[in-house]
Amino acid sequence: MARCAFCDADFETGPGDVLLVCPYCGTAQTIEGAKFIDHYMIRVHFPQHEAQTILLDWCSKQLGAPSDLAAKARFVGYKQVWYPFWISRVDADTKYSGLGKDANFYDEWPQRRGAYKRIDFFWKPESGRFTRRHEIKIPSVKDIDEDIKQFPIPTRAKEYFSHAHAEEFGGIVLHSQVSEEQAREIARKQAFDFQTQLILTEVDKIESRNDEIDVGETFLIHVPVWELEYRYGSGKYKASVSASTGYVIESKYPRSIAFRAAGIGFGLILFLVGAGLVSMATGVLGFPIFPVGGLLSGGILSLLGLVLLYKGVSRKEAKEKI
Ligand SMILES: [Zn+2]
Repeated sequence: MARCAFCDADFETGPGDVLLVCPYCGTAQTIEGAKFIDHYMIRVHFPQHEAQTILLDWCSKQLGAPSDLAAKARFVGYKQVWYPFWISRVDADTKYSGLGKDANFYDEWPQRRGAYKRIDFFWKPESGRFTRRHEIKIPSVKDIDEDIKQFPIPTRAKEYFSHAHAEEFGGIVLHSQVSEEQAREIARKQAFDFQTQLILTEVDKIESRNDEIDVGETFLIHVPVWELEYRYGSGKYKASVSASTGYVIESKYPRSIAFRAAGIGFGLILFLVGAGLVSMATGVLGFPIFPVGGLLSGGILSLLGLVLLYKGVSRKEAKEKI
């Protein structure tokens, strides 16, 4: 529990929460009660029914989805969750020197141009400089789904956080488990790592480097996500859709009976043919036929068959491609 330093209300907090958002007045504050100003959001552009339509439309287009999915699916659960992220803009300027691999080529083969009898590899000193601005995104709730951590956030569309706007849709605004100081430190490390990757595109060994890393504008942003659940036939399926952009973050969807039956049937045929080849190769008929090839190809076919069988009976999860 915590007490809001601004409206005096008591509200729930969890272990690890360090930057709190009061659910009554919407003020972002540290656990010591200092007001935090740089608090933004991305507005909701897709109300619940629109997010649901987009989701079913998207699922219907997936391979093997039943054709009556959009007509027959019934939504049984929904909530709007506002996830916190820190965004940090980091200017990095790195001068480096290192060694790159190079080679001398001797004695080209007369009949084969570009092919040499002798190649001597050696290290060659190289130096250079990378100046970049990185926008670092830091998910600020530890126990969240990988796909939610990674989905794109249009930070240029940010506005100051509005408690009234989040309340309008009954949104749950999560506290941040990362403080501003921690966010800046993480951003600095990630920018350093990005610079390292850049240098390694030019040299194979880094001999020395000089980094000037300036962690600039760093702000907290809350992003609304619809967490939906629908029923189709006897199954229940979960999905997450960005309430700002309509982006389908992840979704489970049913496969039509025809699609699954085809998968199972084909899988079974492959498995039987494969098993037949294996038994012929091992000499069930009294003498082995194609002992090595039969065993190998039979094994592969049986395995493929089993994979298809498994895919046929299991459910499919799909994500929008970034
Ligand atoms: Zn308050």
